[in-house]
Amino acid sequence: MKNILKNNGLKRLIEIATIKKKTVIAAIVLLVISASASFLPYISIYCIASEILATFSNTLVALNTEKIYKFIWLLIIGGIINILSYFAALCLLHKAAFEAIYKMKIDVLRHFTRLPLGFSIRMGSGNIRKILDEDIGNTEEFLAHQFPDLIYTIASCVITIVILVCVDWRYGAVCLATISIGIYILGLAFRTDSAKKHMQDVFKANAEMNNLAVEYVRGISVLKLFNTTLVTFEKFYDVIKRYTKSAIQYTLKLEKTLAAYTVLIHNIYLFMIPIIIFLGRSTNDYDVFVSKTVFYIVVAPAITVTMLKVVHLISKTFQIQYGIQNMDKVLQEPIIKPVSSEKDLINSYDIEFKNVTFNYDNNNKTPALDNVNFISKSNKVTAIVGASGSGKTTIAHLIPRFYDVQYGNIMIGGVDIRQIDLNKLMTLVGFVFQDDYLFKKSIRDNIGMGREGATGEEIIAAAKSAYCHEFITKLPQGYDTIIGSKNVHLSGGERQRISIARAILQDSPIIILDEATAFNDAENEYLIQKSFNKLLENKTVIMIAHRLNTVKNADQIIVMDKGKIVEVGVHNDLIENKEIYYSMWETYSQAQLWRIGGKGNE
Ligand code: ADP
Repeated sequence: MKNILKNNGLKRLIEIATIKKKTVIAAIVLLVISASASFLPYISIYCIASEILATFSNTLVALNTEKIYKFIWLLIIGGIINILSYFAALCLLHKAAFEAIYKMKIDVLRHFTRLPLGFSIRMGSGNIRKILDEDIGNTEEFLAHQFPDLIYTIASCVITIVILVCVDWRYGAVCLATISIGIYILGLAFRTDSAKKHMQDVFKANAEMNNLAVEYVRGISVLKLFNTTLVTFEKFYDVIKRYTKSAIQYTLKLEKTLAAYTVLIHNIYLFMIPIIIFLGRSTNDYDVFVSKTVFYIVVAPAITVTMLKVVHLISKTFQIQYGIQNMDKVLQEPIIKPVSSEKDLINSYDIEFKNVTFNYDNNNKTPALDNVNFISKSNKVTAIVGASGSGKTTIAHLIPRFYDVQYGNIMIGGVDIRQIDLNKLMTLVGFVFQDDYLFKKSIRDNIGMGREGATGEEIIAAAKSAYCHEFITKLPQGYDTIIGSKNVHLSGGERQRISIARAILQDSPIIILDEATAFNDAENEYLIQKSFNKLLENKTVIMIAHRLNTVKNADQIIVMDKGKIVEVGVHNDLIENKEIYYSMWETYSQAQLWRIGGKGNE
């Protein structure tokens, strides 16, 4: 893996911020210049005022206009340098931020393409979008906006401290000591492990709350339909409570230290009282003493505003660090290792599961698949049945390596699938999912995705084989109709047939079919079955079946229960066995009778 993950926390943020090192250094120099120049107008005004006051107290001295003009020029030049250098720094940092974000997005997306597909399924599209959009987007905002503010404010702080120390080191030392104690207290507030943990909890709950809020809004119609209240939307309600709890805990944790810091910094001049008394007693030059004392009483509190801004900006960096951590979690996921030498010795398209045990989560005691053994022969249909959660989908997902098994082997034509080049494996296995995914593209493109470079005729031929040509040609834009656009309404059955056409075009020797649970109308059902027959011709078929009437004719039926194979055979044999399959069949037949009866009674 790349060195991108050597650091974490603040170091990682700095690493990202300085991806364009030279640009960022140039911007920092400009920001320091800008912050320094921002003092010139104040210094000029101070000097002009002193000059005027000197002529007031001594009428014999004429006003030195030449000197005053020089200070006015200094004031103007200071202002111009301040604005121009800040502007130039912002431009540079925006450029650097966009380039850093571009690199981060490319890194994450490139890594995604090397991860097992199962990772995306497990993570969910909402979370992936959040990382690419929000977490990386916030980093861009931080780098382009808050980062320059932070550098500018820190530079102003340092310059103010230098001025405070230079004008009179004794007053300066008191200010410096107070500021140092303040910084130490701040460190106590933010650096403890428990404070860090509370902060992480708040960010985590906040992120989850945002995600679930979107889900809640999306599902609002269903909620209204069923007259469901907020409380029944349990996950959302729980996360709001968790967020509230962790936010309160975090606030309470910081309460004392932040209050102490604020009181200390705001009352910095109080700490100067002893030194004012001491210097007042020992001085002979009261003019200088009074002017310096007034200077410190006015200027020292000004630093408090700057310091509080630094605190606010630093607390922002924690949030950004949390987003970067999420992104790094993706980058740390192990990729599918490309095979070094492609052992293209596949001698058939038989699929064999050999002692396969698989667990989604290593901490989970019961594996999703437990020592599964079976062979699915070429040109034969193997149906997998079983209760929900018994492991049917897991079997289907392991064949194209959405996940890698922990124990055992999955072989295609005698070769372990981990030895087959991933791109090749993808061409070997075709999927027809239950919730078929169609893209917001033309129907032609959706079907054409099945095989790169497919001609228009081939696409139409596939559509004909899947019995969708007729309804496609009836659409106003025919094959160019954009799926999902306004006024284009395709029924569930029509959508499924488009994806079957895609799979027919792909023409993979192995087909994994996740049969739809939803009932189509009779005509659609009939057409889907017919298109399946075309799709499944001469293929190794693994069918996850939800309706038992479709498995009756399968060459082999595998019955799953809690991750284990409990029965294997053909329909008639399994019925004679009078075990799990038999009782499933009984229940299914009863349900069918009930359904027909129900319809008849309507
Ligand atoms: P089926 O398809 O028969 O309904 P699955 O193969 O989906 O069953 O699930 C088998 C087991 O694996 C279940 O206990 C399920 O909770 C678990 N499981 C399925 N998908 C995941 C996942 N992405 N992460 C963790 N556990 C999962």
